[in-house]
Amino acid sequence: MNVLVVGGAGYIGSHCVRQALAAGHAVAVLDDLSYGHAESVPPGVELFRADMGDEPSVRAALRTGRTDVVIDFAAFTNVGESVRQPERYHENNVVRTEGLLRAMLAEDVRKLVFSSTCATYGIPDRMPMTEDLPQRPINPYGATKLAVEHRLRALAATEGLSFAAFRYFNAAGASADAAIGEDHAPETHLIPLAIAAALGRRPPLQVFGADYPTPDGTCLRDYVHVDDLSRAHLDVLPKLEAPGQALFYNLGTGTPYSVKDVIASVGRILGRPVPHEFAPRREGDPPALYADASKARRELGWSPRYATLDDIVRTACAWHLARPAGFAS
Ligand code: UDP
Repeated sequence: MNVLVVGGAGYIGSHCVRQALAAGHAVAVLDDLSYGHAESVPPGVELFRADMGDEPSVRAALRTGRTDVVIDFAAFTNVGESVRQPERYHENNVVRTEGLLRAMLAEDVRKLVFSSTCATYGIPDRMPMTEDLPQRPINPYGATKLAVEHRLRALAATEGLSFAAFRYFNAAGASADAAIGEDHAPETHLIPLAIAAALGRRPPLQVFGADYPTPDGTCLRDYVHVDDLSRAHLDVLPKLEAPGQALFYNLGTGTPYSVKDVIASVGRILGRPVPHEFAPRREGDPPALYADASKARRELGWSPRYATLDDIVRTACAWHLARPAGFAS
């Protein structure tokens, strides 16, 4: 298929681009490079440098690439920042996505794979989390993604849009060859910060909250390898052939790990301890989030190939060791 990967120069998008190429698709990238890295776009893949809300530019990219399907990763994804800057998150994640959707419909591109998040559920009533749980986000990031999910449902009903929304748990890790990986500025995610602290590249890791109602008092999350996440976006494409499909899948391994588990894993793999100190809770953080991804297993045949935290952390460590300053190295 002809695939336009929006946000394809970003962390998860760049992994999906490589996998889509390997699967034989024709791939182009649209990215404004506000957070993405042009260096991550493989040679031969056309990069349209544009804002996804800029309808004429998106329409031109869709036409040039004769796009069959859009895979959209472009979003601001930082929970803490969204609490401090809710308007900015709404503008980028909701308003600009609306521009992308308008451009798609105007060009008669009616297949979309959308990056959603487990943050749309808020604090869930039960664990592990299935797709039918009520969605009551507790931070603006989750609220923006839920707003787009609602919009996509409406467009499936009224415009014949076929879409799959993947509710990611915690994306982590790097490509197996350590060629691409996580490079955010500023970095806020646990695994890269723990690795940098262990390597002495950053101050000690702050553990946000040790008084949660969890076995060791720190938050539980479901870390899932970025290549496993990416693969699901391709696995779902055959399901989008029929018009009006509205599909939702959780993507996680189903195994919860605490912040202390991550500190131990990084220490084990690097062979040196992660200096850390305990700090207050971070606003907007639920105590525990982990997936029941059996729907994706059943309907897409998807299952994570990186099954344990150590498997995932090993790839992240290899990337950070190979590229001490990320793509700037
Ligand atoms: N976390 C932490 N210290 C940090 C960054 C994150 O203790 O410097 C915790 C955070 O509170 C959460 C978990 O690590 O419980 C994962 O956070 P991250 O920001 O990586 O992903 P999120 O769950 O927000 O998507």
